[in-house]
Amino acid sequence: MNPKTAIVTGANRGIGLEISRQLGQLGVKVIMTARNEEKGEAAYSQLKTEGLDVHFHALDVTNEESIQMLPRDVKEQFGALNILINNAGIFLDDKNSILDIDLDTVRKTMETNVYGPLRLSQLLAPLLKKSEAGRIVNVSSGMGAIEDLGGWDPAYSLSKTALNVLTIQLADALRDSGVMVNSMCPGWVRTDMGGSSAPRSVEEGADTAVWLATGEVGRTGLFFRDRKEISW
Ligand code: NDP
Repeated sequence: MNPKTAIVTGANRGIGLEISRQLGQLGVKVIMTARNEEKGEAAYSQLKTEGLDVHFHALDVTNEESIQMLPRDVKEQFGALNILINNAGIFLDDKNSILDIDLDTVRKTMETNVYGPLRLSQLLAPLLKKSEAGRIVNVSSGMGAIEDLGGWDPAYSLSKTALNVLTIQLADALRDSGVMVNSMCPGWVRTDMGGSSAPRSVEEGADTAVWLATGEVGRTGLFFRDRKEISW
């Protein structure tokens, strides 16, 4: 059987880099993407020296031209795509409440955390539908869980709640094709975004995304943490 092929966004550091590593260790061919070519190439070279089947493609998830190039290049170079991991995300840490928040903060956050995953899913769905076990994994956050919205950064929460809704909508739209779409929360993880006092390692943060992408999950349109379903 041919190895599975995966795209990971924001793969140059943090959880995205570790998801790429863990997928590679499972024998998946990983197309690592990053908006900064230099940083992306460095991360890709690092995993290459670890003996993994990794490749690099530049991708800024807020840039339509950059997004449009990806499906064509993937089709030409790899022929097939099984897995899309929408990991790239930003947290702009605007201290204002929802009543005062700068609309520009909201716009930028939505563009990266929601519209990027939406456009990628739209454009890569035809390739994913052709694969036997197509999967989309959206790296979301407990800060987007409706029952737990109070007190969190409003723009970030709004974006992750919207990403979760996108997961449900994509899962419904792709149900007949067999492509499974799920959201996951990595927990609070020690990365540039999570900070050094976060309790979880990147290995722990990446685990559920990798399991959803490659494991015998058999479920779609749900939200997971630590390989268990959690509430929206
Ligand atoms: P980091 O800040 O360490 O990494 C974010 C990644 O996203 C970087 O590779 C960054 O690239 C990339 N990125 C940002 N904007 C774009 C863009 N426009 N196009 C392409 N790539 C982009 O964050 P984490 O690794 O911690 O977070 C990964 C995901 O996990 C995010 O979606 C985040 O919301 C989520 N998450 C993280 C938690 C945590 O505790 N760390 C908790 C819950 C969820 P660049 O280097 O160029 O900036």
